[in-house]
Amino acid sequence: MIRPAELIERKRNGSELPADELAELVLGFAHGDVPDYQMAAFCMAVWFRGLSSAETHALTAAMVRSGETIDLSALGRRVVDKHSTGGVGDKASLVIGPVVAACGVPFAKMSGRGLGHTGGTLDKLESIPGFRIELAHDDFIRQVQEIGLAIVGQTADLVPADKKLYALRDVTATVDQVSLIASSIMSKKIAAGADAIVLDVKVGDGAFMKTLDAARELAETMVGLGREAGREVVCELTDMDQPLGHAVGNALEIREAVETLRGEGPPDLHELVLSAAGHLLALSDLGVGVEEGRRRAEEAIAGGAAVEAYERWIRAQGGDPDLASLPEAPVVHDVPAPEDGYVNGIATTALGVASLHLGAGRVAKDDEIDHAVGVLALAKRGDRVERGTPLAAVHARTESDAEQGVRELAACYRIAETAPDPVPIVLDVVR
Ligand code: URA
Repeated sequence: MIRPAELIERKRNGSELPADELAELVLGFAHGDVPDYQMAAFCMAVWFRGLSSAETHALTAAMVRSGETIDLSALGRRVVDKHSTGGVGDKASLVIGPVVAACGVPFAKMSGRGLGHTGGTLDKLESIPGFRIELAHDDFIRQVQEIGLAIVGQTADLVPADKKLYALRDVTATVDQVSLIASSIMSKKIAAGADAIVLDVKVGDGAFMKTLDAARELAETMVGLGREAGREVVCELTDMDQPLGHAVGNALEIREAVETLRGEGPPDLHELVLSAAGHLLALSDLGVGVEEGRRRAEEAIAGGAAVEAYERWIRAQGGDPDLASLPEAPVVHDVPAPEDGYVNGIATTALGVASLHLGAGRVAKDDEIDHAVGVLALAKRGDRVERGTPLAAVHARTESDAEQGVRELAACYRIAETAPDPVPIVLDVVR
């Protein structure tokens, strides 16, 4: 039997802990035998001292063992999945899933809700009338078999240790630690059963990882954890120094996702989708390389197969794929540019928070979301604007919300006389 206080002390003093003791601690916490106050102290010791690679692997394996795992082998195919560390306006999974399915590769994803200023895929999907995010494991597998695509909410019995641990980290300033983030994300991906995973690690003001070096460290850790569990993982590091695409807010993002599936989406989102889909197809059992994967993804969008796959998927989960059925905000105000110039920067976290204040996200865990509201970041970095040109549009519930939104949005934009250097959406790839 371990003594948690002794493990906390050893970690606090910088010792490496054996795998079996770490596993006992995590599983003890998951089962309610180790109290929150001891686990919180342990997380803080980890925040200061870090975990070795062996410790991070042991932590992840124990988290996976804390609950059920999904066996997708009945599909008889290599199943792929995609995950983002979370950004502002990140609706990429809603496009990548149907694109990959349209190319004949099974895509099975368990998704989460929004955290802080970053939106969650489930919240976006719930803006579609009738859409069901809860499927029993058997129905999840059956849908992937029949439709080639399912995105559902994580069930409570998938990595319960992470659910408890994340809630604790969230209120003890211990979220932003590489080993804790990597084990949290990868334990859920491993338990959800896919054979190959493309991870999108966001980098920049709107992301957990503020620098490319920090993002690379997280990416390398997650690729290692995947490999250890027998999964193939490719990690893209992508720009989050401005929102992805224009739309931030749930129904607005569904509209933009569908436009992108029709080939009419914003260039950064279109490029990110082709890049991720290229890697996913290359990791699949189609036997193609990344370039050919990208070409097939392009063809699926241009030929209409991707949007058809989207409609089949939404109907299969009870939703209405007609965009006219999405909720619309009653009040829309533009945010005018204060002067002529070029957009040099967008305070991305602040923009995400402005959308949250409008009601598109949650401040507290149980807050209700208004699926109709949000922001359209019409002008992006490098765009030329004239005084009075709309920089953004605020979609609000009331006039006073809209006025506050306009003030918050105006403060997010930095205009200068010269254009900034262009930044590609995909900054690096780690494999
Ligand atoms: N997303 C997760 O699922 N876990 C973390 O720790 C951070 C982001």
